Amino acid sequence: MRHIAIVGSGPAGYYTAEAAGKQWGEDVRVDVFDALPVPYGLIRTGVAPDHQSIKKVSMRYEKTALTANVRFVGNVHVGTDVSVAELQQLYDAVIFATGAPYDRELGLEGEDLANVFGSAAFVGWYNGHPNFAGLGPDLSGKHAVVVGMGNVALDVARILSKTEGEMEGSDIVLHALEALRGSNVETVTILGRRGPHQIMMTPKELGELMQLERASPYVDKADLPPPDDDAILEPGLRKSVTLLRDFAAIPESIHGETPITIEFDFFANPKSFKGDGGKVSAVEVERTTIEKGRAVGTGEIYDVAADLVVTCIGYRSSPIEGVPFDERAGRFANDEGRILPGLYCVGWAKRGPTGTIGTNRPDGYGVVELVAEDIGEGSRKAGREGFDELAEKRGIDIVKFSDWQKIEEAEIAAARDGSPREKFVDIESMIAALR
Ligand code: NAP
Repeated sequence: MRHIAIVGSGPAGYYTAEAAGKQWGEDVRVDVFDALPVPYGLIRTGVAPDHQSIKKVSMRYEKTALTANVRFVGNVHVGTDVSVAELQQLYDAVIFATGAPYDRELGLEGEDLANVFGSAAFVGWYNGHPNFAGLGPDLSGKHAVVVGMGNVALDVARILSKTEGEMEGSDIVLHALEALRGSNVETVTILGRRGPHQIMMTPKELGELMQLERASPYVDKADLPPPDDDAILEPGLRKSVTLLRDFAAIPESIHGETPITIEFDFFANPKSFKGDGGKVSAVEVERTTIEKGRAVGTGEIYDVAADLVVTCIGYRSSPIEGVPFDERAGRFANDEGRILPGLYCVGWAKRGPTGTIGTNRPDGYGVVELVAEDIGEGSRKAGREGFDELAEKRGIDIVKFSDWQKIEEAEIAAARDGSPREKFVDIESMIAALR
């Protein structure tokens, strides 16, 4: 028998659990830990609330979670409730699938001004992550600035622009819906330090900006390279750039008709955040030019008005005491998933915050292959029985998968019309719902 602990119940965690089941069948016991009483990590609190079809992948994780040899162990914080060393004594392998829940910082002056947020916080807020439910962004100003040209920037720009009607069918949490109802945002400026050929946005997500009821995307024709230059791009990026060209062709009159403009500001590198009374009022930006794919400052400085700033420049994993961490890369120091004997990582915790949800599947299967090579038949560790004893002694209040199903039932019962669920946004209410 092999005993495996997976820390994190998001996509990387559940694909790894699925792979362990395929690898060892009845001869493995997998415990999937999560600090929250609810599973699915990024699927619940990262994927945009209006992208319900993407969230459906959780049904596959549920199937894995309900197999006899896999167990969800929620409401347990590895690092405080139980140490990594303790888990290692109990399990043949401990696999970190903890994702990248922290914001990378720009490190610029004024980043700590009020109403400047990282995307982990802002996305967590509208998705009801207990750590960020109380964020309280002020949406009373006209100008929002989103830093970065990846898919998270698009999520944020879209959520700031959609009407309440367009949010129907989503599971955006009530506090965010209410705040957005009172929003005065008229411009969402997406700042990219490089140009149209260097965006990280994918066509499907970019194309959604064309469908918005009260917002229209704006690209300055002058920022686009000659059309023939697109030929060298790989097909996905070429499609995205074609969409930027479509945005540039939108007649001025259309922009006049929509109350919100989503403006692409290319070659614009943030230098600092300026404030007024402690709250952000502008982003100071340096115009760039691209040399060998890199943004190089031109010395031309200008301000972009900003009553709200969301930086969407990527994420960092959370370090855990005693586990080697690569500070520069913001993930665990690892060799293809191996950290130290008996310690592994997978998904964003291994490779950093890139790729789609599906990328975590081969990652999960890959790490299980490594574990299989390393642990053979297992070494008769105490596994989940040992953990349960420890948890009982320590008074750790474990949330099981059947408990989560009760929480889910209550969330579904509380849903607004047309919405799949109304999420609990704090741990106390989640626990109260299952008792
Ligand atoms: P990302 O795709 O890596 O994009 C980050 C953006 O931030 C880039 O445009 C980058 O510009 C910019 N940036 C980084 N450091 C910067 C700095 N110091 N100053 C100015 N700009 C800076 O990251 P993401 O948007 O957070 O997305 C993370 C992953 O999740 C991606 O793989 C993404 O595709 C995925 N995702 C997918 C979906 C979806 O499929 N619907 C939705 C959300 C997220 P440079 O290129 O110049 O560095």
